[in-house]
Amino acid sequence: MGDVVRLADLLLPGVGVAVEGVGLGDAEVRLAVRSTMDSAACPGCGWRSSRVHCYYQRCLTDRPVAGRQVRLEMRARRLVCSNGNCGRRTFAEQIPDLTRRHARRTNALTTQLTDIALFLGGRAGANLCGRLAVTTGKDTLLRLLRALPVPVPESVPHLGVDEFAVRRGRTYATILVDMNTRRPVDVLADRTAQSFAAWLREHPEVRVVCRDRAGSFRDGAQVGAPQARQVADAWHLLHNLAEAVERRRTTPR
Ligand SMILES: [Zn+2]
Repeated sequence: MGDVVRLADLLLPGVGVAVEGVGLGDAEVRLAVRSTMDSAACPGCGWRSSRVHCYYQRCLTDRPVAGRQVRLEMRARRLVCSNGNCGRRTFAEQIPDLTRRHARRTNALTTQLTDIALFLGGRAGANLCGRLAVTTGKDTLLRLLRALPVPVPESVPHLGVDEFAVRRGRTYATILVDMNTRRPVDVLADRTAQSFAAWLREHPEVRVVCRDRAGSFRDGAQVGAPQARQVADAWHLLHNLAEAVERRRTTPR
């Protein structure tokens, strides 16, 4: 039993569950766990309850260990909400640091997969996950990215703008970047001057627009942010310079 307690401390530190058993397979570690929380908050009204309505089995996938998938088989509790004014009579207990409603992964695994998706995107991320003993697909990784909250920028005095291909050669969109933080602040569905101008009109704080030399962003900035100075960004300057050198080198004398 002492070893089991130490295993819980190692794999699930401080998350409010106890490990009651371990099953070891060639490719999988199964942990039988139960909640050790005194009470849980009703998602409808916030009242805390410790009155158990029933128990049921809930399965969660956790981060892999030593190349093996980790499955938590949790003895989960459905609790009774005692608030007479609440629309819910019962609710499924969530362990705040471990589970979310309807999730079949632990919070820690979801965080890990989101990080992988952020660094590698869908397809490469899914390939890496296969090597790490995590079963997932590119669509799941992309869903995690889309579920991330988009930070609302308070003020973007220095704005970068560029196009990117949604479908190469067919559909293009516009990405807007805060040049101070180097973080994207918004995405526009197309790359027209009208869309860019409309966005700029709602952001009168823009003082500098850093853009490529395409006409649509120039026109959009002139109409939507006449107060802003327009500058060429370093990447496009170097790109244009490289193209000019290449043309010069290949022009027959
Ligand atoms: Zn309630």
